[in-house]
Amino acid sequence: MRKKLVAGNWKMHKNLTESQALITEIRGIVRDEFRQNDAEIVVCPSALALASSARLVEGSEIQIGAQNVNENKEGAYTGEWSASMLKSAGATHVIIGHSERRQYYNETSEACALKNKAAIAEELTVLYCVGESLEERESNQHFDVIKDQLEKGLEGISSEEMSHVVIAYEPVWAIGTGKTASSEQAQEVHAFIRGLIESKYGLNIAESVRILYGGSVKPDNAKEIFGQPDIDGGLIGGASLKPRDFFEIIKAAR
Ligand code: PEP
Repeated sequence: MRKKLVAGNWKMHKNLTESQALITEIRGIVRDEFRQNDAEIVVCPSALALASSARLVEGSEIQIGAQNVNENKEGAYTGEWSASMLKSAGATHVIIGHSERRQYYNETSEACALKNKAAIAEELTVLYCVGESLEERESNQHFDVIKDQLEKGLEGISSEEMSHVVIAYEPVWAIGTGKTASSEQAQEVHAFIRGLIESKYGLNIAESVRILYGGSVKPDNAKEIFGQPDIDGGLIGGASLKPRDFFEIIKAAR
């Protein structure tokens, strides 16, 4: 039985003061309303707010994730941060290969594989994102695109290391657009991803790896999406900045 996971991606929103206020509000709701069997919760603030957010959620059910990592251990890489830095700031998770990073910072799946390796070496759990553009979906290339992103991004990851991997399927056309993939469309791709993992790592790992859906998940559509057999929770953008909505989505994973 896979435990569901709901992760919030704050992207480049909220300064330090605002981040502290937001994480404190989320912590309060979780403290009052979290049930023992609820989904695992991860919040990914900006790197700037990582350390203080991690301190503010100490002793709670909330874990902290980063939104990016450099693939090198250390060195002259101005403006970057390593996996060990993220870990020392209190992060337990890191989002890798988000479509915004692929699109605006030219991150390739090959680069993501190096980042995945570097993060796992520090025992961080990676939320590795894959997903097709609207054009790719409309020309029926989505399965090929996702297969390619998955194969290249997981290159060099061993079976043992797969316990540190969560996959997030995020159709680019559904991110921040208000358009959600139908639950059937999402389930079809999730089952496809699980099949690819099975062919590479075998049935046991395929059945234990969690595959999240992301793309305009809101309180009113979360239950139906999370109810699909191969959907193990969500990666939430916009709605994760609204504490009540975020918790309603967490509850939808019950
Ligand atoms: C995301 O950025 O990963 C995301 C899914 O965003 P949104 O929920 O706003 O579509």
